[in-house]
Amino acid sequence: MLLIDDSLLHSIEVTTEALRKRSDAHWIIAFSGGKDSSAALKIFLAAYRRAKIKLAKVTLIYCDTGVENPILDAYVKNFLRAAEHEFAALTLPISIVTLRAPVPDRFFVRIVGRGYPPPTNSFRWCTTGLRIKPVSEFIAKQNPDNTVVVLGLRQSESRQRDRALALSSNLYWQKQREGKGDYDLFLPIVELSVPEVWDAIFSLSLPKALNKSALETLYRGASGECPVIKAPTAPPCASGRFGCWTCTVVRKDKSARELIKSGHFHLEPFVKFRDWLAEFRNDPANRWHTRRNGSGGLGPFTINARKEILRRVDALEDSTRTTIIDAEERGVIASLWTMDNFSRLAFKRPSDLGSSKAPIGLVR
Ligand code: SF4
Repeated sequence: MLLIDDSLLHSIEVTTEALRKRSDAHWIIAFSGGKDSSAALKIFLAAYRRAKIKLAKVTLIYCDTGVENPILDAYVKNFLRAAEHEFAALTLPISIVTLRAPVPDRFFVRIVGRGYPPPTNSFRWCTTGLRIKPVSEFIAKQNPDNTVVVLGLRQSESRQRDRALALSSNLYWQKQREGKGDYDLFLPIVELSVPEVWDAIFSLSLPKALNKSALETLYRGASGECPVIKAPTAPPCASGRFGCWTCTVVRKDKSARELIKSGHFHLEPFVKFRDWLAEFRNDPANRWHTRRNGSGGLGPFTINARKEILRRVDALEDSTRTTIIDAEERGVIASLWTMDNFSRLAFKRPSDLGSSKAPIGLVR
């Protein structure tokens, strides 16, 4: 049996006390698949076993952006499927809910449908819609007095976060304003260092569905941290980390390139597409010459440019045998193109729209 170090033991004890104190609450575990939320989940389950109590309700939530790094995406989805069976067999009162952004907010609907340029540091429109809003909206629907949200946040991850944590007398318990009121946040790994987080992953047994070696290999391959979705309060995704495979905020997707070097060659076409998209964004010929609000400056992609992006996505889907834009999203894209055709004609701006017909053939 592996030895558990003092800090980890302390986290389990504090979590055990928290569960005893709030056994009637609805506990919501925000899970991203990364090491921090995996460690938080493991500590939660270890504490639950120790507490020897019944919990009223526990929900594990995962936010699927639809453009996750394909390797992390497959790993997380396998885990969620296996965990569902494991929780049921162990009669653990945990339900799993996968959250997604509404169709109009999804990455390719915005880009191909509305012509949004792929995100940059100064125009990062994606983090809120894809990662933060679905979680915030789910939490906002719960009763704030009776909800505790478990987050895998650690001290010393960012100065901004440390300043916020320092305002509280108990690091483990924080408050978050969302929808109807203030919710309690519980942070089981707040005091743990990165090696202690890995200790938690390797030394605690539940859930067995969590493939710790696969997770470690992923991190080793990508040699980065994983921001994915952490919390409504989390900083935006940062460079050198797992995130969306489409992310053009970073100059180069280092983690994907490292994963390719470590043998995940099927990521190569995704990285090539991302690099192409970043260049395509910067060519003024592909953009309206006014913004949507009529002010000067590069605006959305022209309809021809959106068609070209869609053509490349289709080719990527064919070569990788994946679905990147699903039928529902294609339907919304078709309507958005029609709307843009009409509005451009109404404003009489020069355009390359060619036809005001709906883009027939998009929905497949
Ligand atoms: S990883 Fe990049 S594209 Fe994805 S939400 Fe974060 S900033 Fe946006």
